[in-house]
Amino acid sequence: MSARRAAGRLSIAPSLAPRDIAAPKPQARAWQARVITLFPEAFPGVLGHSLTGRALAEGLWGLEAIDLRPFGIGKHRNVDDTPAGGGAGMVLRADVLGRAITGAQRGAADWPLVCLSPRGRPFAQSLARDWATGPGVVMICGRFEGVDQRVIDHFGIAEVSLGDFVLTGGEIAAQAMIDATVRLLPDVIGNADSLAEESFSQGLLEHPHYTRPAEWEGHSIPSVLMSGNHAEIARWRQAQAEMLTRRRRPDLWAAWQDADAPE
Ligand code: SAH
Repeated sequence: MSARRAAGRLSIAPSLAPRDIAAPKPQARAWQARVITLFPEAFPGVLGHSLTGRALAEGLWGLEAIDLRPFGIGKHRNVDDTPAGGGAGMVLRADVLGRAITGAQRGAADWPLVCLSPRGRPFAQSLARDWATGPGVVMICGRFEGVDQRVIDHFGIAEVSLGDFVLTGGEIAAQAMIDATVRLLPDVIGNADSLAEESFSQGLLEHPHYTRPAEWEGHSIPSVLMSGNHAEIARWRQAQAEMLTRRRRPDLWAAWQDADAPE
């Protein structure tokens, strides 16, 4: 097992068995994601690669995938049951989730507690920014029809959605949100300018990018980008960003204009 993989495979078992001591220790107070899931082996997944993977291996952030299964009931460690009132599918049990959440919140009582759900508040860059300024986040990945409502009410869990579509489980949504948050942490992305300029950071979609070759299949790079005139280039990029946002995202465009309007 590589160090990078080990870093993402830390887990909290109900027995509180000692952790894999070969895993690099997250730096003191490094941002942490604790994810309750029936598929801990799905983590770190794509987060173990590239910038987020390197940062994980370096201890700039930490990940604990907490296996829900050991908290289950009986010999088969059942975690779900049929919906009260009838209907299709299965629902994750409140008692099972409750124990897992209580374990995950140890030393993390004041971290955001989030359940991935298509019914939730739509995830956005602003939420990633909020989370990145805190100590970490505890996430619950639903499966089947979802989770018993009482657990959401009891713990005051915030439901957050990746978008208006239905996934089979919360794991992909959790990884997407963790990725968006981790790349905002100090030192994860070497070039801080790239964070300042990208989509949503100013409330606009980003301008288009080009690179070599200068000529490809009869298409050339817009000449202004080859001019070396930095002021012109900045003006062109800003105009492109505004045009793209106006055309593709009237909602963002309206918000940007409001924010920009003189008092
Ligand atoms: N019956 C539910 C969907 C369950 S999908 C409904 O109609 O609302 C199973 C699990 O996948 C959910 O509990 C949730 O954790 C996850 N999931 C599905 N779609 C999601 C989305 N758009 N965003 C975040 N999580 C999602």
